[in-house]
Amino acid sequence: MVYGSAKRYAADFLSLFYPRLCNGCKRALIQDEECLCSFCRYELPFTKIHNDRENSMSQVFWGRVDIETATALFYFQKGGKVQNLIHQFKYRGKTEIGIYLGKLLGRQLKNHPVWEPVDVIVPVPLHEKKQFKRGFNQSEVFGRGIRETFGRPMITDNLVRISRTGTQTRKARFKRWENVETVFSIKTPDTFRGKNVLLIDDVITTGSTLEACAQKLKAVKGVKVWLATIAMSV
Ligand SMILES: [Zn+2]
Repeated sequence: MVYGSAKRYAADFLSLFYPRLCNGCKRALIQDEECLCSFCRYELPFTKIHNDRENSMSQVFWGRVDIETATALFYFQKGGKVQNLIHQFKYRGKTEIGIYLGKLLGRQLKNHPVWEPVDVIVPVPLHEKKQFKRGFNQSEVFGRGIRETFGRPMITDNLVRISRTGTQTRKARFKRWENVETVFSIKTPDTFRGKNVLLIDDVITTGSTLEACAQKLKAVKGVKVWLATIAMSV
């Protein structure tokens, strides 16, 4: 305990010179606050839909792909706090925000009967080039937080993303992004065989990315799929 209080004293002392700031409102954080102050955290639009197996997010996938259930930590509001947090995380490299949000979600899923069967966490992969440019895969960082509080391992190198570019006609060169087909692939299906997979992503809009990944996973014998994202704007 002596060491603990010495450590805390040192942390307080350091914060005089380098105050830790809330990522929502930039106020200085107090001792036990992490990433966000209590005010900002209180204002976040938590969905709390993880309690209901047939919630509005899982309904997005009805008739598209057979999943166990789905959840999102927050409702996504344009110009709101959640959009701001995700922006800082993805585009300004504040990975601590992604880890923090993952920890919040993992705590919701921990010891919950609907989520209990999950064996392994699998993030939606980024294309290699994009990940190299950004320096990280946001879904994987989010997964690190989930892993910490939910207590399941994460597999990041088996579900991969590849792009096939169509024939580069003159017209296609100007519209080349519309001409890129994204394809997901599983390197060694045996790794996922019979597993209960929690597939995770940052934001769900149409659900087509998660659907494509879930379909790939479901093609492996015995795989069941659960879905979770930071936010939903569906
Ligand atoms: Zn704040």
